[in-house]
Amino acid sequence: MSFDQMGLKDDLLRGIYNYGFEKPSAIQQRAVMPIINGRDVIAQAQSGTGKTSMIALTVCQVVDTASREVQALILSPTRELASQTEKVIRTIGDFMNIQAHACIGGKSVGEDIRKLEHGVHVVSGTPGRVCDMIKRRTLRTRAIKLLILDESDEMLSRGFKDQIYDVYRHLPPEIQVCLISATLPHEILEMTSKFMTDPIRILV
Ligand code: AMP
Repeated sequence: MSFDQMGLKDDLLRGIYNYGFEKPSAIQQRAVMPIINGRDVIAQAQSGTGKTSMIALTVCQVVDTASREVQALILSPTRELASQTEKVIRTIGDFMNIQAHACIGGKSVGEDIRKLEHGVHVVSGTPGRVCDMIKRRTLRTRAIKLLILDESDEMLSRGFKDQIYDVYRHLPPEIQVCLISATLPHEILEMTSKFMTDPIRILV
């Protein structure tokens, strides 16, 4: 399958080709369509497979830029990964005017508040800071329709389990969830059964 066959928005396709991609990687071929079609997806994939761009292009496709509310939330285990994902979203979504913000520890809370109050479509962050912003009601969750949990096994091994559950509890009940993990230990499967409905499982 090519990017052209995925039914993506024209401005998003421009962003993808402009970024230098010609053909979707395996995870992009298998995960993008189900997510865009609203399915919950468990993707067992490592970094290097194109998972970050998979996240970026699905998020860009599902966001409605006419609204200024946060519609997609990505949680990552490290500040670096959360920032990297936000950058790829901004680059691929450049022609669509996607507003993305990295909500990560170590940066000023004031900057988060300014950006979030100005209005962003996508937040990519680490569980601690995102949880904090939700509790301050700076990050409003009512319009969030897609939650992506990236490197989920890594998030759990860094002790973010409680914060992830806390974030999830603040999201709308009909939230769509995509979970990415290199391994699927018991604690991850427990999360998938609590958060997800009839998920598709993809192994790349
Ligand atoms: P990731 O697994 O998302 O960290 O991606 C690994 C590398 O593959 C990054 O340098 C991406 O820019 C690159 N990449 C991802 N998807 C594609 C694609 N469809 N075509 C070419 N390069 C890609």
